[in-house]
Amino acid sequence: MAGVRSSNLGYPRIGEKREWKKALEAFWAGKIEEGEFQQTMKTLRLHSLEKQKQAGIDFIPVNDFTLYDHVLDTAAMFGLVPERFSYKEGKVPLSTYFELARGNQGAVAMEMTKWFNTNYHYLVPELSGQTPNLVENRPLHYYQEAKEELGIEGKPVILGPITFVKLSKGYDKEQLKEVVQKFVPLYKKILNELKEGGVEWVQVDEPILSTTLSREEIELFKEVYEEFQRDLPELNIWLQTYFDSVDYYKEVVSLPVQAIGLDFIHDGGRNLQHILSEGFPENKVLAAGVINGRNIWCANYAETYQLLGELLRNVGSGRLIVQPSCSLLHVPVTLKLEEEIPQLLKQNLAFADEKLTEVIHLTECLNGADHEAIFLENKNSIEKLNQSEIRNNTQVRKGLEQLLFEKPSKRDSFDVRDAAQKEAYQLPFLPTTTIGSFPQTKEVRQNRALWRKGERTTEQYEAFIQAETEKWVRLQEEIGLDVFVHGEFERNDMVEFFGEKLGGFHFTKFGWVQSYGSRCVKPPIIFGDVTYNGPMTVKETVYAQNLTEKPVKGMLTGPVTIYNWSFPRQDLSKEQVMNQIALALQKEVEALEAAGIGMIQVDEPALREGLPLKKEHWETYLQIAVNAFQLATGSVKNQTQIHTHMCYSNFEDIIESIDALDADVISIETSKSHGELMRSFEDYTYNKGIGLGVYDIHSPRVPAEEELIQNMDRALRVLDPSIFWINPDCGLKTRGETETVDALKVMVMAAKKAREKF
Ligand code: GLN
Ligand code: ZN
Repeated sequence: MAGVRSSNLGYPRIGEKREWKKALEAFWAGKIEEGEFQQTMKTLRLHSLEKQKQAGIDFIPVNDFTLYDHVLDTAAMFGLVPERFSYKEGKVPLSTYFELARGNQGAVAMEMTKWFNTNYHYLVPELSGQTPNLVENRPLHYYQEAKEELGIEGKPVILGPITFVKLSKGYDKEQLKEVVQKFVPLYKKILNELKEGGVEWVQVDEPILSTTLSREEIELFKEVYEEFQRDLPELNIWLQTYFDSVDYYKEVVSLPVQAIGLDFIHDGGRNLQHILSEGFPENKVLAAGVINGRNIWCANYAETYQLLGELLRNVGSGRLIVQPSCSLLHVPVTLKLEEEIPQLLKQNLAFADEKLTEVIHLTECLNGADHEAIFLENKNSIEKLNQSEIRNNTQVRKGLEQLLFEKPSKRDSFDVRDAAQKEAYQLPFLPTTTIGSFPQTKEVRQNRALWRKGERTTEQYEAFIQAETEKWVRLQEEIGLDVFVHGEFERNDMVEFFGEKLGGFHFTKFGWVQSYGSRCVKPPIIFGDVTYNGPMTVKETVYAQNLTEKPVKGMLTGPVTIYNWSFPRQDLSKEQVMNQIALALQKEVEALEAAGIGMIQVDEPALREGLPLKKEHWETYLQIAVNAFQLATGSVKNQTQIHTHMCYSNFEDIIESIDALDADVISIETSKSHGELMRSFEDYTYNKGIGLGVYDIHSPRVPAEEELIQNMDRALRVLDPSIFWINPDCGLKTRGETETVDALKVMVMAAKKAREKF
């Protein structure tokens, strides 16, 4: 019998230096022709396959590559093009494909939303009024390409039918079964063609199995996979789950497939428990996701090896496969270009390529190779970092311990605070404000780039920032806003800015990860105890405040968002790391207050992103998040007004936690989900300050006064006007100057009219 084998589930698309992004953007801008574009993409794709082959991976995924998004690919494969785009039949042309993703003059793009609980965004397929058809077989194409060009016997990856339909919209959820049944014959056709084409194994991704499902849904899995088995008895189906444990373990492992892929990293230990207590079927292969596909830390070889040993005892070596916990899409490509990472840290990191090496080391070891030296080195590196000073800052640790005896917030109740704030600020009824940033024009970005390169002195750069700030303070006066902001001209990114000033963070050079389409982010690594090294925002805020009589809000990114948009260390719990960030931010909040800033906004746009996949784990997470926020903001006096801001997700089901943040004023984005958010305020009495964004900042279009009044009216039907604030949806950094001023003038005018009405 063959020994233990190795596999990968998906490889990053973006290339070592974001070549993928560059090619896409050059193509969209008309700088390269389609031929050259496709050639570049092919080179990238083959290079990634070649690297996996060189690494020695036995099961190399194909069709994990995409020109935009794998969910969009699946929709395009079924010819699912919404009617607003022009498309007749047959393979979806490349131009239409990109229009689906990016919109065109006459049609808005498909909606984008988060892929499970990751920071990757997929395009939501629209099923309404559509008859799916198989218009191309992408997995087959990529399988053949890998075989012909590189002699690789690839493992095609496809998104499974139930996950695909569950992630789609435009159908009655009660009809899930009927809708899935429409796709089953198409899937069978794909699978059959793959089999005919010589494919041995197909990885069918059904991550929806890691979410909370109903009995009927599990029944549906049975029906669908039984049908596959019945009609395609010779094909090996590798049913892949990831991101959490599977709730219906017994049912899942009993499905008539040949291999089951389980995540042993993000499963809270439950998948292993199931195997130990309920066994694993003797006729199946277990693909064990034991290398974390979602963070950048190296594996702990000793621990992972022990876990694998346990699995091996339960399934036997010919039936065990070692692999990452999910696609490596969620981590950067390679460490080899990172020359500036301190050795102590670098030894503890593993990006995609290094993770594959880990898979190989562990597989070889299970098959009898002697890797003692490698294991020892791994152990030493981990210990060295864990014991280092940077991870054991006595002051930070003391601060954390202290929390055990304290409530996170020391403030009085909202009523008391509200009275003090009303007295202090004398704001008009329906006060107007903005979310923080003003246009980051080319000039702003250029100045920063020149300063970073050393071509501008710090004095020159700061003078420029001040001039820009002053210009916008005057503009805010002219517009007639009530509460001002300094404009955030000194910031590149809302997490990076703080990460660079706090201790315990590291920024990589090429550590990019795809966020959506060609957009990539470079999450900082939180590798040490988070220390406060002095004021981060005081100078700019105070500068702006000194220019005007109007209150200027201090602007910070909250602990939950900083945590969720970083790669956090793993040796401490989420709660501990979030609290460390919160304690550092608390000092900044206090510094702002001491400098005379009376309103401080702590943004938490990523609060919801951290929600666990399974509802039963929500409460714990929300509790931790709310505590961290309160910790950051809870030491100021009553008169100091704490604001927060959130955007681009559904808040309906976490409204109580939003309330529990206990911010004096919250601004929430609403343009994209207006109706739904309003509904939640119908059944929930919210009584602190609240501004539901009255216009969408994602379009350069200046909104008409009438529209804004309508939006306000709608909000004021469910919210008490005396608590309502008027503001745009989100920060204005992506907008141009003139349109911003014009739009805000319309907003202020609309507010004036509303004041007369209520
Ligand atoms: N204060 C930030 C800004 O205005 C908020 C950004 C965000 O919500 N994503 O840009
Ligand atoms: Zn926002």
